[in-house]
Amino acid sequence: MSRSFIEPGATLGVMGGGQLGRMFVHAAQQMGYFTAVLDADPASPAGLVAHHHVRSGYLDEPGLARLVELSAAITTEFENVPAAALQSLAAHRPVAPDAAAVAICQDRAAEKAHFAAHGVPCAPHAVIETSQQVAAVSDDLLPGILKTSRLGYDAKGQHRVNTRAELAAAWQALQQAPCVLEKRLPLAYEVSVIVARSAGGQVVHFPLQQNLHRDGILAVTQVPSPDLTPDVQQRAVEAAERIAAGIGYVGVLCVEFFVLADGSVVANEMAPRPHNSGHYSLDACDVSQFDLQVRAMTGAPLVAPRLHSAAVMLNLLGDLWFRKGDQEAAPPWRDVLALPGAHLHLYGKLTARRGRKMGHLTLTAATPAEARETALRACALLGLAPF
Ligand code: ADP
Ligand code: MG
Repeated sequence: MSRSFIEPGATLGVMGGGQLGRMFVHAAQQMGYFTAVLDADPASPAGLVAHHHVRSGYLDEPGLARLVELSAAITTEFENVPAAALQSLAAHRPVAPDAAAVAICQDRAAEKAHFAAHGVPCAPHAVIETSQQVAAVSDDLLPGILKTSRLGYDAKGQHRVNTRAELAAAWQALQQAPCVLEKRLPLAYEVSVIVARSAGGQVVHFPLQQNLHRDGILAVTQVPSPDLTPDVQQRAVEAAERIAAGIGYVGVLCVEFFVLADGSVVANEMAPRPHNSGHYSLDACDVSQFDLQVRAMTGAPLVAPRLHSAAVMLNLLGDLWFRKGDQEAAPPWRDVLALPGAHLHLYGKLTARRGRKMGHLTLTAATPAEARETALRACALLGLAPF
């Protein structure tokens, strides 16, 4: 499909109704677009706020046909939307990112092959699909992390293994699903790069953010990154731009990197959509990652985002609702909202569960030290571990 500019007033469609879809809908609506969300869940966070909610599975033809009928262009908020669904939509409407790009991001082995093809280093690894491959693993990959190639997120589908016996047991526990065994690397710190790329090849990026994971789930994002050096910044941005250009990517793409003690920069994984680590951009940048998702899919010019405040983002997991035991109780929002530069985002999820992403809190300030200091006060109020 041709990519002329889609004017405000048109309807933009999104596959998936989670929090990323919800924040996309907010950004699109701010620019005067109507919105349509496809998600089977009647209470999906994005479905609740969109103009149209198509309650349908990702592969149901009538639902896909309805989304096509409603939408001038379609994007995705969820990387596990089946490629076949995006292909069928693309026969009728511009779809960004496209099925081929999303398919690479759905498979860790394909993702690593894509990184390597564009000269971007990744962790030493082996693809595990047969018991012969388990037996043939090089000792050098242990201790390692066995990760399912598909459908993993927030460290689900991952096992840390120290020995061959643990590796074999972990693969059994994962039901012999196709996996990647990665060498466990000594991480100095983690950063991510979010780029937006237009159909015409224009690329802009956010300043790098530094990410702290706890139990494999993003817990804290800091911008500017306290540990980043100009050299690491340059290598990571160049790598992310090559990765995006290499698939003719259109849309917002996040690449996660490990920085090792020796300063080397290793790509971890990528997501074909705005990313949890970029949520601070809503409050600390003049243009957010969701604004750029709207711009990329509508063929609007991309402008380079500018960080106007230092920021710390804290993820708010469902655990916060169970601080007093099994009885669900809301966290002390009133006290949190008294903090200077506090921006509370809750996703409208009706029930809290441990490990479920319920919202995030961004603390903005004039300096990184002030943002950190206020974020530590928020941690104390919420019972989160300091960072
Ligand atoms: P997910 O898809 O769940 O985000 P990741 O592969 O990004 O899974 O892993 C989650 C986190 O686990 C990473 O951000 C990092 O903190 C840690 N991790 C993952 N792979 C490695 C590795 N090879 N070496 C050391 N730490 C790792
Ligand atoms: Mg990750």
